[in-house]
Amino acid sequence: MRIAIIGGGAAGTLFVANWLKRASSTDELIWMEQSGNFGAGLAYSEANQDYHILNVRAGQMHAYTDDPNHFLRWMNGNGFPCNPEDFIARKLYGRYLKAIADKCLTDSRVQGFTQEVISLSEKNQAWEIKLIDTTIISCDSIILATGNLLPARPTALPPALNNHPAYQRNPWHYNTPTNPDATILLLGAGLTMIDQLLHLQAIEHRGKIISLSPHGFLPLAHPTFPQKWPLDESLMLAHRSPLEWLRFFREQIQKAQAGKYDVFAVADAFRPYVQTIWQSWNKTEHEAFRQHLRHRWAQLRHRLPMKVAKKIDVLKNSGQLEIHAGRLLEVTNEGERLRVRWQVRGTGEIKAMDVDLLVNCTGPSSRFESDGSVLLKNLLAENILIQDAEQLGFAALPSGALKKPDGNSYTHAFALGNLLRGTLWEITAVPDIRKHIGQVLDLLLAK
Ligand SMILES: Cc1cc2nc3c(=O)[nH]c(=O)nc-3n(C[C@H](O)[C@H](O)[C@H](O)COP(=O)(O)OP(=O)(O)OC[C@H]3O[C@@H](n4cnc5c(N)ncnc54)[C@H](O)[C@@H]3O)c2cc1C
Repeated sequence: MRIAIIGGGAAGTLFVANWLKRASSTDELIWMEQSGNFGAGLAYSEANQDYHILNVRAGQMHAYTDDPNHFLRWMNGNGFPCNPEDFIARKLYGRYLKAIADKCLTDSRVQGFTQEVISLSEKNQAWEIKLIDTTIISCDSIILATGNLLPARPTALPPALNNHPAYQRNPWHYNTPTNPDATILLLGAGLTMIDQLLHLQAIEHRGKIISLSPHGFLPLAHPTFPQKWPLDESLMLAHRSPLEWLRFFREQIQKAQAGKYDVFAVADAFRPYVQTIWQSWNKTEHEAFRQHLRHRWAQLRHRLPMKVAKKIDVLKNSGQLEIHAGRLLEVTNEGERLRVRWQVRGTGEIKAMDVDLLVNCTGPSSRFESDGSVLLKNLLAENILIQDAEQLGFAALPSGALKKPDGNSYTHAFALGNLLRGTLWEITAVPDIRKHIGQVLDLLLAK
């Protein structure tokens, strides 16, 4: 079998590493990464600073499905003493991934290409991959691991301001404002916004920093001593609407707290069931969850290491950081600055502020048609793939097998990571991606 994997970031690397352990000596793998940097990808690149640390404990960040101590061994063996409960620097994790990718690329079954893939086509269950230099490569199976897009332009920001120097679309780039007293608006309140805060704090930025998001919920901190809530699995099998799940979740929290467990223990116990719950809902239920519950869930789920939470508290308590809940209404050009009008959540009051920099931390865009790479746009335009009903990712089966425009699925084309958000919802963190890769390999190698 000849398999092609498009994307050499975190998901691609985990896939190739696990594939090599299980493939036969005659199987072949073609691995395409446009940047030539196989391994770390966006999240774990060297552009991160020491204070950008993993939000998942080291003990859960191993690359191999069958070797839970692999990452800990790598850390300790490379002079970085590390315990399973530690949160380590993301760029160090990137070096771990790079070491794995480098080793994979020395295997004679793997051929790496530093090329952008621009289109794919399928005929009689065989795939052709077109590279930007017009080379065509043939293979039997395709794995898409192309990662996250930049955030979408907020509708309140006119297209003409897209390139305004005071608007920063890329939240994973860490700017040092020339004016240390600049007023900075961070649009969003999630982990990406936190990364920007950590950066501004580290460079001793003095100006006001404002976070504006629909609810103003910042991620909560991981407890110092994680607890395990003994959830009865049979209770998780019932079909419930989002509202019924909320009630059930609250009941569990009450019971847990009576037994001296914290809310995080309950969230952690629910976490493994999120993909199944998401799949049991219809489009209306998905929309209800996204509109009313998503932000609360994200706050519990995307947690901060305690030492990061303490740093954010310093910014909040000093008054330098303001957290606002509301809706962005309009952004206009005020010379070198931007004027932002927004509506306060709850009261409807309309407020305005002038900012020197607006950083879009609203999360990766899922509008593949407008914001996608050449490849993603071509896959839609050439009717090879379709987006899911809510336009959150590509339409796929729960296995990750990609769907054709006629609704049937390809037997030999899969996606990994955030590209499956519409199908699985909870498929961003390394433990989820790794588990999913194990399932894809079971299917691919069984053929
Ligand atoms: C800032 C950030 C921090 C995170 N922190 C954590 C964390 O602490 N713990 C955790 O568990 N999860 C974390 N995550 C989530 C998760 O681990 C990442 O999203 C994960 O890295 C996704 O891997 P990926 O391979 O899908 O994407 P990436 O790692 O971004 O890789 C995609 C690769 O595909 C390449 N590519 C794209 N298109 C093409 C093409 N057409 N041709 C060739 N190559 C192409 C790109 O160049 C890129 O290298 C974080 C995510 C982000 C964004």
